[in-house]
Amino acid sequence: MSKNKVDILGVHVDSLTMDEAVKEIQVFIEGKKTVLVATANAEMIMRATYDHELKTILNEAALVVPDGAGTVWAAHHLGHLMPERVAGYDLAQELMREAPRRGDRLFFFGAAPGIAEKAKKKAEKLYPGIEIVGIRNGFFSAKDEPEILHEIQEAAPDILLVALGVPKQEKWLAAHLHELSVPVSMGVGGTFDVMAGIMKRAPRWMQKAKLEWLFRGALQPKRAGRLMALPRFVFKVMAYKKSRQRKGTRL
Ligand code: UDP
Repeated sequence: MSKNKVDILGVHVDSLTMDEAVKEIQVFIEGKKTVLVATANAEMIMRATYDHELKTILNEAALVVPDGAGTVWAAHHLGHLMPERVAGYDLAQELMREAPRRGDRLFFFGAAPGIAEKAKKKAEKLYPGIEIVGIRNGFFSAKDEPEILHEIQEAAPDILLVALGVPKQEKWLAAHLHELSVPVSMGVGGTFDVMAGIMKRAPRWMQKAKLEWLFRGALQPKRAGRLMALPRFVFKVMAYKKSRQRKGTRL
């Protein structure tokens, strides 16, 4: 584990600022590597505690940014520095903002039919000159996969944003990363839904008060059950700290 990684319930999360995350990703693009970037919120980390495939993917990813107040809280509780929250939505926007100047090309894969198109239009309005070289909705069956892979390969983006939800997007990417040979691929959850205007982000004051999770839970009843992941995460992190202290393991 590199020195900038923080172990949260066995998931190695990078401790870095938004600016640093953007710069690292740009270095990956320039290096023409083929890497996976993940955005770890409390829910994803909780899932990784019992989903070993997800945990391995995260621990092998080139970058795992601290998405969400829960992740930052956990790092601090475990005695580590974690300068700020790097939300996946915001990170995707920063990469798009920089894309026209740098000439980075993007592909939007995921969300319901019609949503990625709307997100593309929004990106073109917000970031004039941006090149979205392909879009594809995220509802497909196994027989469509070769065609999807071919579409992405043909479009040859520098950045592939994948919105299939957690953990499907991470697992899909891990399985296909090397066939795709796209420099940077990142799972972005509900980002296209927000850009298309069918899902709202919490107001700024709620984000600042670290209450975005509550807003999302209240807005999407199907998420209400998932809200319990946060208190469970808090208890689990507290127990993790105690057990590591008991064993004398460095946190
Ligand atoms: N989605 C998709 N294909 C699927 C399942 C989900 O494209 O088979 C999309 C869904 O339409 C939404 C996104 O994946 O745009 C998941 O968003 P959510 O906010 O639920 O993400 P999570 O919080 O799970 O990362």
